[in-house]
Amino acid sequence: MGFWNRKKSDADAQTTCSEKKQIAKKPEKPIVKPDPACLPVKKVKIPLNKTTSEVKFVQNSIVFPCPICSELNTVDLYELDPILGGETMCMHCQDVLHIPGGYQTRSEVPKLKVYAGLPVAIRKFPLFYWNHPVIHELDEQGITRIIIQYGLWGFCQRCHHQFSPAVLINLPHTSGEIVDYRSLSSEEMMEMKSLRAGSCPFCSHRILLVIISEVPHYVISASENLSHRWEED
Ligand SMILES: [Zn+2]
Ligand SMILES: [Zn+2]
Repeated sequence: MGFWNRKKSDADAQTTCSEKKQIAKKPEKPIVKPDPACLPVKKVKIPLNKTTSEVKFVQNSIVFPCPICSELNTVDLYELDPILGGETMCMHCQDVLHIPGGYQTRSEVPKLKVYAGLPVAIRKFPLFYWNHPVIHELDEQGITRIIIQYGLWGFCQRCHHQFSPAVLINLPHTSGEIVDYRSLSSEEMMEMKSLRAGSCPFCSHRILLVIISEVPHYVISASENLSHRWEED
């Protein structure tokens, strides 16, 4: 009995060994490091920012109803950056608003919207961000990095401190996750440490006003032109 067993296991060992050799001969496949952000997560339905496209041009300004309280707000077009647009506060409900720069240059106006901030607990921000349809869309187009320049704004709900998008997008899902601080400035590092603990570094409030907007084409092409300039000799 012992003999047969031994023989069988010897044969097994041989097969395994030759299999191993075969595996070793195969050309090495590139190792794809799983990005924690790309790991399959259970799809979470998230609330989206309230918007308005009822924007009227009146001389050198635009007038629109606040997407939250419906009261009219007026913004001087000269205050807007032609690409980055601008952020302001509703004069009536104090929510933060993003106004696209296309209103100033009159580009893509029919597609543009004024966005109002959405309250999101700091702790829930990564879940909100990684489940956002705009982020998924940018990911599919391979241009997620544009979000550092345009498309994401995060403010403390109480003191209105504006957080760096580079910090927000790098906020880990869990407290144990390792964060690469090397690319962050010292101010961003301070923000990151406080947000990881779930609160604003200036007033300890635990809720953000977040805006994630669609990225207009003029922003994407401006960003492409910028990267081309870097390549020029
Ligand atoms: Zn309002
Ligand atoms: Zn604050």
